[in-house]
Amino acid sequence: MSMHHPDEMLLMEYSAGTLSEPMALCIRMHLEKCSHCRGQLDMLNSLGAIMMDHDAGKTRNELADDLFDNIMQQVEKTAPEPPETAAGAVQEPIDPLRKLLGKDLHSLPWKRQLGDVSVCDLTDYFGSEERVTLQKLCAGGRAPAHSHNGQEATLVLTGAFADGNGVFEKGDFVLLDEHHDHQPVALHGEDCITLSVMTAPVRLTGRFTRLLNPFIR
Ligand SMILES: [Zn+2]
Repeated sequence: MSMHHPDEMLLMEYSAGTLSEPMALCIRMHLEKCSHCRGQLDMLNSLGAIMMDHDAGKTRNELADDLFDNIMQQVEKTAPEPPETAAGAVQEPIDPLRKLLGKDLHSLPWKRQLGDVSVCDLTDYFGSEERVTLQKLCAGGRAPAHSHNGQEATLVLTGAFADGNGVFEKGDFVLLDEHHDHQPVALHGEDCITLSVMTAPVRLTGRFTRLLNPFIR
């Protein structure tokens, strides 16, 4: 299971459907790999439903009953999952990125950048103002030390990388910003491909504010 997760605010935005398409894609692909965040999302969806009932004029007692039922459902859901049996018993979900691109990650028009890094720009696939790129750090490679302008969501698609903040494996999600100076190194002797969505902090603040408004009453 993943060790690096989107925070509750991002999951809340995902649940509310207010994330941009590429950000939602990052979260969806993380959720496919992460039972912890799937549990969190179920909880947030339940809370969202209760708040809508509240708006629909349910009484305090009805809301308390709903809340109890929802908590009990969560407790049942977080019970240990049965062990995975024979190989192939658990069906792999269709990779939504591959579906979007219509081709394998390795067949894309990669452009060599500085040192061991190649980049493929996917911005045109999305009707979004954010810059969306795939970044490939070749096996055993090291990226130049760098910082980030604004916020950058990164999801590990293949391989793994390490930097001063930790080790990031397939399915891990991390938000980097201008406070993160780092120099990622590819691990496990394989190419590390990440999906990166660069967001402007001002826009994010705007969305956060809009999302939080219903909760601050
Ligand atoms: Zn997670």
